[in-house]
Amino acid sequence: MTPTNLTNPMDFIRTIIAKDLAKAGSSNRKVHTRFPPEPNGYLHIGHAKSICLNFGIAAENTGGLCNLRFDDTDPTKEYIKYVGSIKDDVRWLGFDWGDRLFYASDYFEQLYCYAVELVKNGKAYVCSLNEEDIRKYRGTVTEPGRESPYRTRTIEENLNLLQRMRAGEFEDGSHVLRAKIDMASPNMKMRDPLIYRIRRVEHHRTGNKWSIYPMYDFAHCLSDSIEGITHSLCTLEFENNRELYDWFINELKLDCHPKQIEFARLELTYTVLSKRNLLELVEGGYVTGWDDPRMPTISGLRRRGYTPKSIRNFCERIGVAKKNSTVDIALLEQSIREEMNRLAPRVMAILRPLRVIIDNYPEDQVEMLEAENHPENPGMGNRRIPFSREIYIEQDDFSENPPRKFFRLAPGREVRLKHAYFIKCESVVKDEQSGRIIELHCTYDPQSRGGASPDGRKVKGTLHWVSAAHALKAEVYLYDHLFSSPNPLNEKDGSDFKSHLNKNSLEALTSCRVEPSLKAAAPGSSYQFLRHGYFCVDSVNSSDDALVFNRTVSLRDTWGKIEKGKNRHGT
Ligand code: ATP
Ligand code: MG
Repeated sequence: MTPTNLTNPMDFIRTIIAKDLAKAGSSNRKVHTRFPPEPNGYLHIGHAKSICLNFGIAAENTGGLCNLRFDDTDPTKEYIKYVGSIKDDVRWLGFDWGDRLFYASDYFEQLYCYAVELVKNGKAYVCSLNEEDIRKYRGTVTEPGRESPYRTRTIEENLNLLQRMRAGEFEDGSHVLRAKIDMASPNMKMRDPLIYRIRRVEHHRTGNKWSIYPMYDFAHCLSDSIEGITHSLCTLEFENNRELYDWFINELKLDCHPKQIEFARLELTYTVLSKRNLLELVEGGYVTGWDDPRMPTISGLRRRGYTPKSIRNFCERIGVAKKNSTVDIALLEQSIREEMNRLAPRVMAILRPLRVIIDNYPEDQVEMLEAENHPENPGMGNRRIPFSREIYIEQDDFSENPPRKFFRLAPGREVRLKHAYFIKCESVVKDEQSGRIIELHCTYDPQSRGGASPDGRKVKGTLHWVSAAHALKAEVYLYDHLFSSPNPLNEKDGSDFKSHLNKNSLEALTSCRVEPSLKAAAPGSSYQFLRHGYFCVDSVNSSDDALVFNRTVSLRDTWGKIEKGKNRHGT
């Protein structure tokens, strides 16, 4: 059967794989990929691109498989807590590795045997230069390297030293095992690369069994081969490593020789996508943790209100290419905005409350007014919201001296309250000393129930509101881009990326009021706050008594507008 491609257009990787499958004999016609994270941090949106690609290709092809393999070869930086978070995130994104969960550390014994075989074949040697000398001997891109004085050690000597390295007889850094390739190779990766180094540290899975740990370039290709991977997809910076990938597999004459294919890593504006940088933000307290809703991590995006589908759609949209480029973060925001526009129930929330007293409304009266949950989707039904004599509106929906084109409330002016009545502002009460507006006094037109005009007279503005006595208190966190520079890692002045953190990336509003229908809002559930944007109930800090919302995304791309110098506020 020819491979089918269900959802994704044929990118260059899918095209290569389809050709390989077409060429393969009928018994070999299967594709097997893997996602190989190093458990040294939480996954970010860049990893999502790789996950969607690897698991996606497996799913699209009959009999296709994708392994989840932890590249746990560096015990100095890897922790068990990251293993758990990575598994959670891959699963949450909607992918299933079934029973194919592996660890490079599962193969430590096998990898050691391969290393011994290379030594026996005269293809690897123990080098006792220190780290600095190894670097000096390696040469530069323009100059060939020099051979290590230890390169001529006999096979017996090498075997003996390697065995003692394994047994823990030597200090860290005193010896390394290196491949014997070519110190003059134009490809620096081929200049006798390291295979093993001594690290007398405990490993989260193998404990103290090992005193030596394999290097990525050695462990990665061999793990791929051991698992029967057919296509090993990695990011472009590994292009030069491919020669070495193939060298190890060829020298060891392994039957399974996966094909390494490189693709462009995802880069996004106004953020950083590297675990090392993200860790620096977490450890330096610049964010509240890996799952801070401003972080581009999967856990941060989840807490922010992104859905798995919105992330998968984003990954599908950006596609897979061979050339590096930076994607506008607005595209990611657009993916959740579109989904929320379709799915999120509409509710009313007042972020900066201003009290309004409707003087001609009966004092003890409460009406339950009909409101649709979604204007374009009647299937989502209606709810009833209480209306009473005292309500809250947004502070900036009132202006004492309205500028031109301000169509909201002002002295003597009439507006519509969404789903409710027309109200007219009669007077303003201010604090005598500060001049701050304390409350507005209005009258309402009882004939305008439901917000319909009783006599054809028009009002220009429609405001959202909540009933003061019925509204729930809430905290609302407004987020903006984490960095104020589109490319914080590559500023021309060479400044530290942290100096470009956006000081206004978080605005905490603590005296918000939301309509009572949100009383039972479950952690993680999403809503459109009318005229404000899409918000979700924070899954960490929200409780029944203290509602906390995160703004997932605004209704429109306000950042783009600011960039163009336009006014931020619509009416
Ligand atoms: P980081 O720089 O964030 O540490 P990494 O490549 O070191 O990234 P790994 O855990 O080794 O992180 O990556 C697992 C897989 O995810 C690799 O195949 C890697 O190529 C891929 N990957 C990592 N970052 C990106 C990205 N920005 N875009 C696409 N794929 C990525
Ligand atoms: Mg890495």
